[in-house]
Amino acid sequence: MSLSHTSSSPNPPPSVPTATLGVPRIGPRRELKTALEAFWSGKIGQEALLETAAGLRVANWARQHAAGIAHIPSNDFSLYDQVLDTAVTVGAIPAAYGWKGGPVSLETYFALARGTEGDVEACAVHGHAHGSTSGLPALEMTKWFDTNYHYLVPEFSRGQEFALASTKIIDEFREAAALGYRTRPVLIGPVTFLKLGKSRDEAFDTLSLLPGLLPVYTEILRRLAAHGADWVQIDEPVLSLDLDDATRAAIASAYGMFARAVPGLKIQLTSYFGALGDNRATALSLPVAGLHLDLARAPGQLDAVLAEAPAGLVLSLGVIDGRNVWRANLPAILDRIEPVAARRGTDHLIVSASCSLLHVPYDLTLETGLDAELKGWLAFAAQKLDELSILGRALAQGRDAVKDELAASAAAAQTRAASARIHNPAVATRLAAVKPEDTRRAHPFSERREAQREALNLPRFPTTTIGSFPQTSEVRKARAAHTRGELDNAGYDAFLRKETADTVRWQDEIGLDVIVHGEFERNDMVQYFGELLDGYAFTRNGWVQSYGSRCVRPPVIFGDVSRPQPMSVEWIAYAQSLTDKPVKGMLTGPVTMLQWSFVRDDILRADVCRQIALALRDEVADLEAAGIRVIQIDEPAIREGLPLRKADWKHYLDWAVESFRLTSSGVRDETQIHTHMCYSEFNDIIDAIGAMDADVISIETSRSKMELLDAFITYRYPNEIGPGVYDIHSPRVPSVAEMVELLEKACQRLAADQIWVNPDCGLKTRKWEEVRPALINLVAAARILREEA
Ligand code: GLN
Ligand code: ZN
Repeated sequence: MSLSHTSSSPNPPPSVPTATLGVPRIGPRRELKTALEAFWSGKIGQEALLETAAGLRVANWARQHAAGIAHIPSNDFSLYDQVLDTAVTVGAIPAAYGWKGGPVSLETYFALARGTEGDVEACAVHGHAHGSTSGLPALEMTKWFDTNYHYLVPEFSRGQEFALASTKIIDEFREAAALGYRTRPVLIGPVTFLKLGKSRDEAFDTLSLLPGLLPVYTEILRRLAAHGADWVQIDEPVLSLDLDDATRAAIASAYGMFARAVPGLKIQLTSYFGALGDNRATALSLPVAGLHLDLARAPGQLDAVLAEAPAGLVLSLGVIDGRNVWRANLPAILDRIEPVAARRGTDHLIVSASCSLLHVPYDLTLETGLDAELKGWLAFAAQKLDELSILGRALAQGRDAVKDELAASAAAAQTRAASARIHNPAVATRLAAVKPEDTRRAHPFSERREAQREALNLPRFPTTTIGSFPQTSEVRKARAAHTRGELDNAGYDAFLRKETADTVRWQDEIGLDVIVHGEFERNDMVQYFGELLDGYAFTRNGWVQSYGSRCVRPPVIFGDVSRPQPMSVEWIAYAQSLTDKPVKGMLTGPVTMLQWSFVRDDILRADVCRQIALALRDEVADLEAAGIRVIQIDEPAIREGLPLRKADWKHYLDWAVESFRLTSSGVRDETQIHTHMCYSEFNDIIDAIGAMDADVISIETSRSKMELLDAFITYRYPNEIGPGVYDIHSPRVPSVAEMVELLEKACQRLAADQIWVNPDCGLKTRKWEEVRPALINLVAAARILREEA
């Protein structure tokens, strides 16, 4: 293949240039995941891995070319993570990893990504990784802005030097060029890169490293220009955050320098995930050729940008939603952008996806399980390419040129808006009837606490776990066999009952005070409930990269949510029938159900959340009616739902807390409501946590040595609290003495009668050989505390 693809289609239809900012890279059938895991386990060699990777890149370029995309990205591919790629490109590799200059080996690359020796430990929540526990640790991992993608956090030392250590971006540009694709290379901007990183050893402002970093960037830009790049896409998503003046000045100096150093190269400064807001003046003052706007997330910013943008600036209009799976209403989009074309001319416009399509699945045509009507409302990455191309042609040639396509798009929007599958009048009526008292427990905590003490009769320092017990290979095998139809319902049910019964009896035996059923019947804490609720749909191949080789398949909330029948009562009641001790009913909270799904875009997120809350409220009531005295509503995703801009936090926290309370407030005083949260920093949301008013909250604290508790102390958190004393991310079994020490620390900060004793999180990723001794130690630690107190 050496022919130029642009010359192979001699008369492409006139179109306003279209663009994507990046496309999914894991492979339509997760080919990259398979290859990575085979490589890590030694089943295939480096060459085979790199061949798979190259194949995926070519397929992506070919697909975009075939769809008529004008600005096709390169270097959006990554073997693991694009932020790690950037760190490696500029040589920001901590000394411990042994890199001595020269090309960075795959071994070093994956050591940074995953650590060495020992497995990367995944947490029970959606497999978010926590780094390995022996040998060299992996770089820390954290969420990419407000997405569910996780990047590796670059680590910088004071006086950090940078050097061009990888030519990946140049190589991939050339690789595409050799195939006949002139691409627009993507790189993460220097300011975003530094802001995402953290200082190692001593604290300092990572932005102070900018002067040393910029020469590496200009070197990259020069080389790209020398190899024939005309446009380069530089991503600065920090433009959607609250920035200080120093950061804005840093952006100005960086792009000023690029313009001077590589004057012939066109740079598209790329913002996404929100409005430019108070960074707009900075963005519009830069000497760049193009500016990208996320008009899916922040359509309202267009007018202000139009009013202030210099005439020669190419505006990239991010109108196709890169974060969600809904088919676009193309005529409605044209209504908004045709006036822009009329005003600025079509030669200064690009029609684009709002952000990288990394955040949506590959291809709707792979979904064989969804019915035609629902499918007609959806668009995955491949379909979004077609939508872009239709818009590009409509702008250049007029709507008539793509009449049929526009009519189909409008018809889909029309049937979706009117569908009875989406709108359930009973849900709307019920939501409208919610009264303030529905979101308040009948009595304050001080009174509930007395009622609960009497009803539950628990010892001081009560012990419990967070819910899940080891998902052993037998459990996973049985589930897979059941899904494939090889194990019938009765057989699967009997298997799950036995697992549950064994687990309940064992907890009883070792002396845990509040028992759980173990969650063996749950594949995933969101999917399990989603499958039992109306308004949710599930895909077969709708994988989205979470980090590295890990993918998730988020459910799609397409309609009003309601609960046709109880979801967990049978399992919890069965577990309760096996013991006299209280069994905790386990539910996933409304905010987490929302946060880890694709959410419908035709009503407010807050209202979707309230609908879920009402459905869960009924589940809580049914559990209580079945004799369940303790009910836990997990909300590990509350913090990650925080908006990017501080000004929007209050509104979000208000409806998030209200939804939790709507779920939890319908019970009697003596029914004890628990909640659970993990990997949170609590300082900035402690008021909201207090307002949730759960009787007991369990949090992850063991690795922070109880420091996370400080937020609760300062707040004078009045309700009960279980600071995790067992780090479940590690296979290590904590000793009694260690746990006693952590509990004593907690006692210095909290009242002894406030404190529960529990692990940091669910135990589903651990082995029984680890869990058994650890929980026996945990019970022993609680007993020592009881004697001391
Ligand atoms: N109950 C869930 C479990 O134990 C909670 C998971 C979580 O929030 N991290 O797995
Ligand atoms: Zn957790």
